[in-house]
Amino acid sequence: MRAVETVGGRCAPDALGPTLMHEHLLIGWPGWEAYASEDRAVHRERTKICVDRMLELRELGVRTLLDPCPIDLGRDVELMAAVAQESGVRIVCATGLYKEDYGAPAYFKFRAQFGDAVKEMADLFVHELTEGVGSTGIRAGVIKVATGAHKISPYEELVLRAAAAAHLATGAPITTHTDEGTMGVEQLDILTGAGVAPTAIIVGHSCGSSNLDYHLAMLDRGGYIGFDRFGLELLHPDRARLGALIGLVGLGCERQIVLSHDTVWCWRGRAPSLPPEVMPDWRPTHLFKKVIPRLREAGVPPECPALGEQISDIITGLTDVSDELQEISRGMHPAVLSRGGLGPAIKMLARRSTIPVELELTVDQRLPEYAEAAAYYVLAEALTNAAKHAQATEVLVSCEVDGANLCLRIRDDGVGGADLARGSGLLGLKDRVEAAGGQLQIASIAGRGTSLSATIPLTD
Ligand SMILES: [Zn+2]
Repeated sequence: MRAVETVGGRCAPDALGPTLMHEHLLIGWPGWEAYASEDRAVHRERTKICVDRMLELRELGVRTLLDPCPIDLGRDVELMAAVAQESGVRIVCATGLYKEDYGAPAYFKFRAQFGDAVKEMADLFVHELTEGVGSTGIRAGVIKVATGAHKISPYEELVLRAAAAAHLATGAPITTHTDEGTMGVEQLDILTGAGVAPTAIIVGHSCGSSNLDYHLAMLDRGGYIGFDRFGLELLHPDRARLGALIGLVGLGCERQIVLSHDTVWCWRGRAPSLPPEVMPDWRPTHLFKKVIPRLREAGVPPECPALGEQISDIITGLTDVSDELQEISRGMHPAVLSRGGLGPAIKMLARRSTIPVELELTVDQRLPEYAEAAAYYVLAEALTNAAKHAQATEVLVSCEVDGANLCLRIRDDGVGGADLARGSGLLGLKDRVEAAGGQLQIASIAGRGTSLSATIPLTD
């Protein structure tokens, strides 16, 4: 499974937890350097502001935050690393370059006169994704690109092409900036035309328009779209963002929509002074306090939109494990199971699990095929659930042959409270075990983890 690079090290995609997909700890418009000496003086104060915000978000359940600040907007990955460390909320930082009119493209425009600017940019992005930013060793986890309103400039297209090349070299997803809800479709066309899978692209700030035809054109191409400026009323009213979001969720598009606010917590140079009544909701807790309750009122069920699981989907793509699950759900056996039997297959699942598995395994003989397949399926699903939904930190697995039965027990220390009736996937497991003539018992009490106990009779 491909890991996600965070400023504090690698993280398994399934372990990211609820993620805010577009917020900024710090930005500085090019030119802020005029105040570089003041900048150093406020470093401590800045760290504290960011840590306080992060702790507030952590309290609301946020576990990871994506700060897609590009290279040329005052990015400070060491600040991000310090804040992540102190607050316990992971941060994913970006490589990439901003749009032409507010970025600092002079350097690369200059370089483009002498050689291949796309290659130079792509090499830089790849270096930041694989080796780290400068000499910090802090690796970027995503690539940021940006375009202005109503047109993509030749320079911006160079950056898009460089991002595509860096994606193809590293697999890192691409997140974009758009203005006034325009050019998202064109961004997707340029990137996918250069070989990027649409599922690796988030077209940011798509909520800058409430035109559903625009949104659907991007969703139909397979891309993700960002409703990531909630509270930024000066650019587009929340009411219109919400209306479009409710409509798209009603169409079943929620898996392709990511939510955030695009807040900026600190500024290099002088901060803009906005009277507090101008955008009172432009804060990173707004989704939790107002937007999600409004979605509920509109009839959107509690587990949807699955805020923040998207980044893991975007980054994971089709991982080994989900490939394996698909194979099984199509009735096929993974190779390790048909060749080696249940014991080796369970060991492989335990090794691949993103959370530590303690294994008590006494099955070393071959068992009837139906029993091996059912047990394997239950364990694979249970480990995925434990990582993805239960936020478990450890799983205990025991598997033994007891008389004429195969007994499989799986217990995690996660949040519990999984509901058989609410489409949690547990129903599928029960069906699967019962189809093998067995029984599945589930205990999942909120706050006390989830236990599964499958008993499958061995009648062959
Ligand atoms: Zn932004």
